[in-house]
Amino acid sequence: MKFTDFNLNTPLLNGLDDMGLSEATPIQEELFPVAMSGRDVVGIAQTGTGKTLSYILPLLRNLKFSKQRHPRVLVLVPTRELVEQVANEFKKLTEYMNIRIGGVYGGTNINTQKQLIYDGLDVLVATPGRLVDLTLTGTLRLKTIQKLVIDEVDEMLNLGFKPQLQRIIDLLPEKRQNLMFSATLTFDVEEIINLFFYNPIKIEVAKSGTPVEKIFQSAYQVPNFYTKINLLLYLLDVNSDMNKVLIFVKSRQMADLLYSNLEEIFEEEVGVIHSNKSQNYRFRMVKEFTEGSQRILIATDLIARGLDISNVSHVINYDMPDEAEAYMHRIGRTGRAEAEGSAIAFVTEEDNNVWLKIQKLMSTSIKFDQMPADVEISNLEIGEEIKEIAGKQLIKTPKIDATRGAAFHEKKEKNKKENQGGSYRRKLAAKYKKPKTRGQKRK
Ligand code: AMP
Repeated sequence: MKFTDFNLNTPLLNGLDDMGLSEATPIQEELFPVAMSGRDVVGIAQTGTGKTLSYILPLLRNLKFSKQRHPRVLVLVPTRELVEQVANEFKKLTEYMNIRIGGVYGGTNINTQKQLIYDGLDVLVATPGRLVDLTLTGTLRLKTIQKLVIDEVDEMLNLGFKPQLQRIIDLLPEKRQNLMFSATLTFDVEEIINLFFYNPIKIEVAKSGTPVEKIFQSAYQVPNFYTKINLLLYLLDVNSDMNKVLIFVKSRQMADLLYSNLEEIFEEEVGVIHSNKSQNYRFRMVKEFTEGSQRILIATDLIARGLDISNVSHVINYDMPDEAEAYMHRIGRTGRAEAEGSAIAFVTEEDNNVWLKIQKLMSTSIKFDQMPADVEISNLEIGEEIKEIAGKQLIKTPKIDATRGAAFHEKKEKNKKENQGGSYRRKLAAKYKKPKTRGQKRK
């Protein structure tokens, strides 16, 4: 169905036209009439389905010009990056309309945001924590809200935002329309629906092109952290088509540790993103990776979910996620919009259980690839690694030029030495005296 077949007005059609959009996605087509009718809606859809526009279009279609200061539309999203992304989508579409849109999130100056709200807004996009803070200061009143959108609810609950959600909903007028989106329908999500929604219509869409069809999935059985680094360097070295690589790790510490190792080799080509980084740094990392000046981005799940980063050539599960669903979200970052993508999993013995669940969830069987002969197997035990990571001690990885094919082999000897653990690591510890961390680094 084309957008011209929707009951849209000229400014919105012109906005869509400028964005180069003409055909609606399934969720946009299904959701529009229901949302326009004023009923509560629950959309079960992942990023990449066009879900953001599916709620923005009916919201804007129903929004009349007003000089009222307090917002009428509230969109809650779990992360700061999503605030920017969603607010931008609103702004792009309202190019030909007189609508005031603002985004607020934590980690930045609250006074600027107070001013923004004081100046008057029609649409407010926010993370729950900062929104509550703004209501506490008395700057923001929510009694004027007519439409509430909660996007990525499952992620919001994962992040522990339930108390904030409850508080926000208590501040809203009872008579309002609720729209909610979640990639998965978990028990907790159902609970939220039952608590806050009135007889909602459920709309569920599959992601266009399921991962199994569009993403080439492979996996290696890898014994430990250091072998994973060796394998990663090898893959980056030999595969020239690895031009936009998103690497998932399980924690912020792991992200920093891997980053400090890769940065020595790839310098400006590698970035890292997790919740402990400053906001500006996070925005810059996403921007550089999206635009392609950065080849590799190391990320934790919480940050990467929901971000619309296109044309990722490879997703590497450096650490496997705890939940099978998370694997699906991760690899969904590649193979988007008709592009083909690859997903590579590094599976340790501890991950075998989740690996089985993943294959069941994807209704597919993925055989382990043989470890390439050139990849050095580290002899460090998992237990030792955990100690190392807790103390954030760094093991230096070999300096190789990943742009040159033979480089990996030349460094093999050095690599071997560094993987022997014991005395070598003690030497390194003495050399660095204290753990070297990159967490505070601002670039
Ligand atoms: P979302 O699922 O909302 O995260 O959207 C994913 C991407 O799809 C965004 O870059 C949108 O701009 C894009 N998109 C949304 N609707 C359409 C459409 N009807 N046609 C083509 N691309 C779209």
